[in-house]
Formats: sequence, structure tokens, C-alpha cells
Amino acid sequence: MKEINIALVAHDGRKKELIDWVKFNWKMLAKYNIWATGTTGRLISELVIEEEGKLIRPFEKKVTRLFSGPLGGDQQIGAMIAEQKINMLIFFCDNLIVQGHQNDVSALTRLAALYNIAFATNRTTADMLLTSPLVDDPEYSIELPDCIASYANRSLK
Ligand code: PGA
Repeated sequence: MKEINIALVAHDGRKKELIDWVKFNWKMLAKYNIWATGTTGRLISELVIEEEGKLIRPFEKKVTRLFSGPLGGDQQIGAMIAEQKINMLIFFCDNLIVQGHQNDVSALTRLAALYNIAFATNRTTADMLLTSPLVDDPEYSIELPDCIASYANRSLK
């Protein structure tokens, strides 16, 4: 099976929404490698699901936790995107308040757009991305936009 890496991040005001989304999609998400900023990752790894009468923690050993977002975690995910190690970013950012680490938020969303990864900032789009048959289609790959190579090789004479 194709290796898929999904990064999950939620600001405090939207953590519940992300956890509800993870609960709703847990079976599908459990097939993939999950990366998350520190606190979001902790909540996901602690998630308890009832499956066939048993209580399980499907993500206990499946989430790789990075630093907390404001402490560098957003930038760690951004660097992974630039290294083409992330296929999909689900980022539930708080649209009602400005964050102390707003620069990191902007940097992360900019890189997700620039590197053409699957990227959702709300639940409906996240559902649609995750359920796309293209996610694990072995024939499908993320294409780097030409502007990246053009920029890397630009002439400065
Ligand atoms: P957190 O970070 O998961 O550590 O709370 C999220 C963020 O603010 O980027």
C-alpha cells in the first residue's frame, strides 16, 4: 500500500471539532501515518473509541507528536511539507482570533498551498479530501508546481 502521511493541527478553539472529525473518520485515518502538533497529537492519541463492545485507543501508538504549534510545531510540519514528506494537511485554525504565532500559521498555510498538497481548514473539505479515491491511488502523485523549480533555479545575474 502507498505510504500516506497526514498532518493534523487544531487551534484550541477548534480542537473539539478536530477530535470529533477524527472520531468520525477513525477507521480510514488509522490506515495512514499521522503527524500532529503537540497538544492536538496528545488529544488524538488519548481518543477512546468503542469497537465491537471493546474500548480501544486506535491512535495511541500511531500519532507522531511534534512540538506544540506555538513552540515550533507548525514550522516542523511546514519543513516536512517542503521536504515532500506530507501528503495532506488538516488544519483547523481559529478564524475568530489572531494567534500569538500567527506568522507560523501563515507560513504553514502558504507552504501547503505552494507545495500543492491536499489541504483542508474545515470539516466538510476534510471529509471530502479523506474520502477521495485519489488518496491511496498508486497511480496518483502530488505534482510539484513548475514555479518551485523555476524559483530554485532562477537567474540572479
Ligand atoms: P497544539 O498546536 O496542537 O500544540 O495546540 C496547535 C497550533 O496552535 O498550531
